Amino acid sequence: DAVARLVADRVLDVPDFPQAGVVFKDLSPLFADGESFRGVIDGILEHYGRGSFDVVAGIEARGFVIAAALAYAAGVGVVPVRKAGKLPREVLSASYELEYGEAVLEVHADAFVANQRVLVVDDVLATGGTAEATLGLVERAGGTVVGFTVLLELAFLGGRKRLAGRPVHALLTV
Ligand code: IMP
Repeated sequence: DAVARLVADRVLDVPDFPQAGVVFKDLSPLFADGESFRGVIDGILEHYGRGSFDVVAGIEARGFVIAAALAYAAGVGVVPVRKAGKLPREVLSASYELEYGEAVLEVHADAFVANQRVLVVDDVLATGGTAEATLGLVERAGGTVVGFTVLLELAFLGGRKRLAGRPVHALLTV
């Protein structure tokens, strides 16, 4: 569809980044183009429907860009899910394996009101480790995950399988 085409038309394949053998999907051209950026944000909001979530959680760092725009468009707030050591108050932490390496994500322990409906956003779904860790954090913090959405899903890395039973949505799957 038209929204998927916005993503397909403005993603660059970068071979051997951040390490040999990995083809990194660079979405910065999509973010940099005003019409495309607005189109993907509107596309996400249209998919879920206004009023279907109470807050947006964005995963550092490109997820923040999407989360902020989406939250503003929907008239809700935004919660940052950050890399270890960045949040100043009491946090919940989750460590997980990346496509290349290991990492820790954190969220403020009081980030969500009990049963608040949370839409989690990121730019790319690859192996699903980042998403799995984040969805767990949101739930441990008392939120209810109503969706996990990405601009681009790399299906061959099996993230959706890893997130089986989760409400995963991608604007474009390759
Ligand atoms: P996963 O945990 O393997 O699913 O990796 C997803 C996370 O790594 C997301 O936060 C993405 O921003 C980042 N990521 C992994 N691969 C890519 C890529 O090819 N392009 C952009 N971001 C990626």
